[in-house]
Amino acid sequence: MINRRQFILSSSGLLVTSKLGTSWGQDVVRDPFTLGVASGVPRPNSVLLWTRLAPEPFAGGGMPQSDVPVRVRLARDEELRDTMIDRIITAPADDGHSIHFRADGLEPGREYWYQFEVGEFASTVGRTKTAATGGLDDFRLAFASCQSLETGYYAAYRDMAEARPDLIIHLGDYIYEGGPRDESRGPVRRHMGAEIKTLWDYRNRHAQYRSDPNLQAAHATAPWMVAPDDHEIDNNWAGYTPEDPEEQTELEFRVRRWAALKAYYEHMPIENRPQLAELDSSLQIYTSLEFGDIAKVILLDTRQYRADQPCGQEFPAADDCNERYSNDISFTGREQEQWLFGELRDSEKHWNFMAQQTWFSQFRYTGNRYNMDQWDGYPAQRQQVIQRLADPELSNPIVLSGDWHCGCAMNVMEDFNSTVAPSVAAELAGTSISSICPWAAAVEESIPENPHVQYFSGDRRGYVLVDMNQERLLAQYRLVEDARDANSGVAVDAEMIVESGQRGFTA
Ligand code: FE
Ligand code: CA
Repeated sequence: MINRRQFILSSSGLLVTSKLGTSWGQDVVRDPFTLGVASGVPRPNSVLLWTRLAPEPFAGGGMPQSDVPVRVRLARDEELRDTMIDRIITAPADDGHSIHFRADGLEPGREYWYQFEVGEFASTVGRTKTAATGGLDDFRLAFASCQSLETGYYAAYRDMAEARPDLIIHLGDYIYEGGPRDESRGPVRRHMGAEIKTLWDYRNRHAQYRSDPNLQAAHATAPWMVAPDDHEIDNNWAGYTPEDPEEQTELEFRVRRWAALKAYYEHMPIENRPQLAELDSSLQIYTSLEFGDIAKVILLDTRQYRADQPCGQEFPAADDCNERYSNDISFTGREQEQWLFGELRDSEKHWNFMAQQTWFSQFRYTGNRYNMDQWDGYPAQRQQVIQRLADPELSNPIVLSGDWHCGCAMNVMEDFNSTVAPSVAAELAGTSISSICPWAAAVEESIPENPHVQYFSGDRRGYVLVDMNQERLLAQYRLVEDARDANSGVAVDAEMIVESGQRGFTA
């Protein structure tokens, strides 16, 4: 075992001798593990371990300006006796003292437990699991999105943690950027501070969300795969265009986007750092993971590279602008699109999930109106993707989506405007962990015009738990009884089934 009084890894990665007695580690008097632990990027031989040191989580973190040594341990058992990794690593000040440590040399398809220590303090013990290889009989994933802490507690995450999935996918709106909600609108908790714009603000907001014990429990239970949507930065942003260009200049928004992407990285178990080149910022989010022969998850990023929403921001917008049919506007950017097509073409897995932020299927609102912030704003590119999903060589494509705060299961039709075209895939649109759905009635009244809808749950909170084996996929819409109660029960509202080879839901 390494004696942590003797060694500190410097930020350059050089091993230097030091005495922790003279460093911050010994001086710490408050628990820095206020934000819990997390893991992500599960591969057959590695997993990424995360924490962030923040003794004052809502005031920038409360850490010194210097890098800080942290002990990390990973073991084959929950008591951390059968230890595989015991190392001193560095929490860099430049990363807000977050840690993104890739634990290598692991065995496929196995559970591991891990813990961090600084000075006298130890984090909670997290559980994680590497990706399996070879034949796999079953696989369980959970996916979630949209967790405004003002409009609900996280009972859904308590239930998710108890389900112990092999993978948890978050499809965005992990935080919301707005200021505190008016008391008259009945918040159960309130955002600290006004609308967030600076790195300081984004860090504090992430910390406020991450201080929730049920959210921490879900992170400490399984590896996560995450992508931001709009509210991690600014409502309905696209590329370098903010929600309200009349209120923030492009330069202001570029600075803001960088701050938001950096804070997102600092709080998530993801491996790629955000990049800044001149005034262009980027965070590599889109990626894929594979689990034995049974599942592949392709995660898209439909915000950073998209063209601005066509036909204005009205919702739902009339179908009276030709721009949305243009081949020149892209939801993913061309580079990501080509990558996606390759991932779909080359997959040999049994279930192929295309996980992404917003509703993929067409949804026509009464009066031939559409939500231009979703794929409906970009139907030309969607049709290209549908053709790839329809490829008979591709086994069991399933679309996962978030964003819209209401549960909906839809058959993805080869041609949404034809009554005879076949379904090519099943789409599971999750509801929200806690964000409310004021437009639920508008969706519900439009369902008769959308015969591909197989299930709709309206203004209810929850998440979707997906179990699969080689024969079938079972998706449970697990809905919270009372989102205003952190201890609320969670019940199954619907069980949606896709039989292998069926390309749509079993009626
Ligand atoms: Fe949302
Ligand atoms: Ca959203």
